[in-house]
Amino acid sequence: MTMPLYGQMMDVPLTVSSLIAHAARHFGDTEIVSRRIEGDLHRYTYRDCERRAKRLAQALIALGVESGERVATLAWNGYRHLEAYYGTAGFGAVCHTINPRLFPEQIAYIVNHADDSFVLFDTSFATLVDALAPHCPKVRGWIAMTGEAHMPLTMQTPVLCYETLLDAQDGDFEWPAIDERQASYLCYTSGTTGNPKGALYTHRSTVLHAMGASMPDAMCLSARDSVLPVVPMFHVNAWGIPHAAPLTGAKLVFPGKDLDGKSLYELMEAERVTYSAGVPTVWLGLLNHLRDAKARFTSLERTVIGGSACPPAMLRTFEDEYGIEVIHAWGMTEMSPLGTLAKLTWEQSQRPKAEQRKLREKQGHALYGVDMKIVGDDGRDLPWDGVAFGDLHVRGPWVIDRYFRKDESPLIDGWFPTGDVATIDRDGFLNITDRSKDVIKSGGEWISSIDVENVAIAHPAVAEAACIACSHPKWTERPLLVVVKRAGMDVSREALLAFYDGKVAKWWIPDDVAFVDELPHTATGKLQKLKLRERFRDHVLPSSVGIEGCPLTPLDDAALDLSTPLAGTRENPSVQ
Ligand code: AMP
Repeated sequence: MTMPLYGQMMDVPLTVSSLIAHAARHFGDTEIVSRRIEGDLHRYTYRDCERRAKRLAQALIALGVESGERVATLAWNGYRHLEAYYGTAGFGAVCHTINPRLFPEQIAYIVNHADDSFVLFDTSFATLVDALAPHCPKVRGWIAMTGEAHMPLTMQTPVLCYETLLDAQDGDFEWPAIDERQASYLCYTSGTTGNPKGALYTHRSTVLHAMGASMPDAMCLSARDSVLPVVPMFHVNAWGIPHAAPLTGAKLVFPGKDLDGKSLYELMEAERVTYSAGVPTVWLGLLNHLRDAKARFTSLERTVIGGSACPPAMLRTFEDEYGIEVIHAWGMTEMSPLGTLAKLTWEQSQRPKAEQRKLREKQGHALYGVDMKIVGDDGRDLPWDGVAFGDLHVRGPWVIDRYFRKDESPLIDGWFPTGDVATIDRDGFLNITDRSKDVIKSGGEWISSIDVENVAIAHPAVAEAACIACSHPKWTERPLLVVVKRAGMDVSREALLAFYDGKVAKWWIPDDVAFVDELPHTATGKLQKLKLRERFRDHVLPSSVGIEGCPLTPLDDAALDLSTPLAGTRENPSVQ
């Protein structure tokens, strides 16, 4: 057997410190602008950022933090949070970003599970820290990310001052050589059921993901961009923007805690933001502000929307009314998070406009580095025909191998089961139809709750909609639409159901509509359907009435029209 011939190139490890070092050296004057907790607008450069990140690293080392230890953050998007990203991972510690919107009990669980040694926090979380500290005995210190003048004085927990710690250091520090397989960041899943689970990224996975995210058919970031990540740095590393921006030299604009439409719009305009990224809920606020204030963007060119399905109506509004390109993206914490983005090939962009739109409303094609497939109940691959629904499995260098401090592997034959249900079409475009836990199975056939919700959201009187399974004596489950009306607008149950005519298969039309004041959301803004299903567990659908097992009046079977052939079924994927 012949020996493999190895190449003769440098074996330089891919480490996150190289990202900030690159930005400081080659884009040293490029600005990082932050709306601060202190209330003002702070600006400095990548050069300043690296210097201060080094001082933070020195300060943490002086406090006894060693390589591999977890240092947590409870913070909004801002320059000090960016310093924490590099001032921890840069010297081999692990930056553990915590979502402050989780319940305090969940946060305490996460801090203890991660074994965090120090917690860096924005002063707006002082009360939260006081509530957490007694339950987190292993935390050696809580560090308020502010200067002496703004220290929260009424706290019961003894806290250290971030700026004082940095002032005590000289910044004369070299980023140490690190094995690229060492841990860099730790992010816990939002945990809709059970305890959150930790995804522990490596330096290598973080850098490769940053390269992938920057590519033209991904986020297409460059040194000519001014980027405002609305997606929080405590949620999957703000989709990699804090790494991709220094890599490409893009200007960074951090909104702090003010994520309402007006604040975002004003900051975007003032800092000539060209590019942004966030979840649909945030964009709803921004679009409402634009409409009410009759405002227009003068610099924003494009935005990535993901985290939950981007309603087609939102995509249309951004593009047709404001001329902003929307890039619909899909990913998850376990994938660092980027998986797919909806950008067209040259050939696809020659097709009729309506067809292009349809493609771009989907979650898109896989990024290099992510391999995906859909499988049926028997584990076998399903065809990429845009019709067959299946469990979505992925693999790649920035996909999780196992959860932090869990022995059992989540993988199936080397693939990570995402828990999402999807179709993939002939163009390789992914379309997420549901979380597997949320699917609605009517008469043995699947109904896409996301498609049903998207129709409702397109109605002018609907602010938000959730489609959930409701038990049915004949069909096992039928869809129930739960709706929040737009302030000052009205729509009846009948009018909303009539709105579905011709927009989805007849048997996908919900059997009933329930109007509510608000819908439950997770800490990352996703609909909490489990809670909704519990709330509507005893809801009696009009179509159930009179069927055996349901005591009321006769069923109008014709209205349901469940006899038509079924499209997109899991059992029979080829049926059109
Ligand atoms: P998280 O780990 O909190 O980022 O949540 C990941 C999950 O959010 C995915 O598994 C999907 O269920 C959902 N998700 C993310 N992006 C999208 C999208 N564009 N469309 C539909 N669901 C999405």
